[in-house]
Amino acid sequence: MTTNAELYARRIAAIPKGVINGLQVFAARAENAELWDIEGRRYIDFAAGIAVCNTGHRHPKVVAAVEAQLKAFTHTAFQVMPYEGYIALAERLNALAPIDGPAKTIFFNTGAEAVENAVKIARAATGRTGIIAFSGAFHGRTLMTTALTGKVAPYKKLFGTLPGEIWRVPFPVPQYGVSVEDSLKMLDSILRTDADPERVAAIIVEPVQGEGGFHIAPPELLKALRKVCDTHGILLIADEVQTGFARTGKMFAVEHSGIAPDLMTMAKALGGGFPIAGVVGRAEIMDSVDGGGLGSTYGGAPLSCAASLAVLDVIAEEGLVARAAAIGERMRSRFTQWSQRNDLLPVTNVRGLGAMNAFDLPDAAAVKAVTTKAFEGGLILISCGVYGESLRFLPPLTISDALIDEGLDVLEKALVL
Ligand code: PMP
Repeated sequence: MTTNAELYARRIAAIPKGVINGLQVFAARAENAELWDIEGRRYIDFAAGIAVCNTGHRHPKVVAAVEAQLKAFTHTAFQVMPYEGYIALAERLNALAPIDGPAKTIFFNTGAEAVENAVKIARAATGRTGIIAFSGAFHGRTLMTTALTGKVAPYKKLFGTLPGEIWRVPFPVPQYGVSVEDSLKMLDSILRTDADPERVAAIIVEPVQGEGGFHIAPPELLKALRKVCDTHGILLIADEVQTGFARTGKMFAVEHSGIAPDLMTMAKALGGGFPIAGVVGRAEIMDSVDGGGLGSTYGGAPLSCAASLAVLDVIAEEGLVARAAAIGERMRSRFTQWSQRNDLLPVTNVRGLGAMNAFDLPDAAAVKAVTTKAFEGGLILISCGVYGESLRFLPPLTISDALIDEGLDVLEKALVL
């Protein structure tokens, strides 16, 4: 039998260190909210492959849909010979997305690719080039999305000149001493001192910051951004790559604020484990690019479209939007109890929307120590935050209460001083 240690040695020799691994054990199989490594050890999954498996690992309906597609055809390239799955999925998303008026959708492969293309579409629609993004934002690792991302190390360091005409507004985070008012003042100042509003194509915002620390964009921020955009003819892009598909207790997180973005990017949980991303937006904006200006060989691949259609069915049939809210309440009430204890590492800034939750520990070293101890207890956890000071929780929305509690028990032990 191959051991984890043997595979890790091969991984080190064969694969560059630029891509990291949270764990040094290797996946053998997965079922709903549990994973097993190649040595047969079982883990509870509170990461869901970074917010991908909202419908659990290998949901039977998703597997069946992919199996059926596999028997029909696997690839034609939508640009060469199109197929119904792509269209059916676009229609479903056009109806679901909180976009004002008629919407259209185009598919890609990764979240970064969706953001890249949302920027291209916004530029084509407005005839402008500038983009405003936030501190702590994460939008991907391609050159444009790296430029939009608001964290230097490790994302920007070493990569030289990045695309320009990007202005950055501090994201409101109370524990960093930044209020919504501060953010809006800075935005106003940028538009007066630095960026001609008539050169700004779009403002891009995560309705809940992901990698940057699970900080929630307050509805008053999103409403104010909508207003600024309307005043200056700027488009509002909601990056829902991490927050989409029931994760936050709404289908899309921006719905918590009641505003409608002009463009939305989505990926991760849409495919339920199969790579797919999309840009959904107001039809007239989406149609501003000439034929051939958008596309990708594998974008909206048949297997991924089949999986995504099944994911949308599962979310509706199993009531996962409401389930996300219930999961969140269950987890946050336990975190809040921990935050009042003095026999545990200090748990602070408990926060979250639906089943997208986090809390802070004193520093990144404490976070590392706790994730390591939790892993030893059979729980998979990931961190986030500009300072690496936060633990984030993204369990599959199909997880049982019993498994949540078992995972939280492991975590509680890992927090003991
Ligand atoms: N936007 C957001 C909000 C994300 O969380 C991520 C990935 N963590 C991305 C974009 C990039 O997605 P991908 O890794 O699929 O390129």
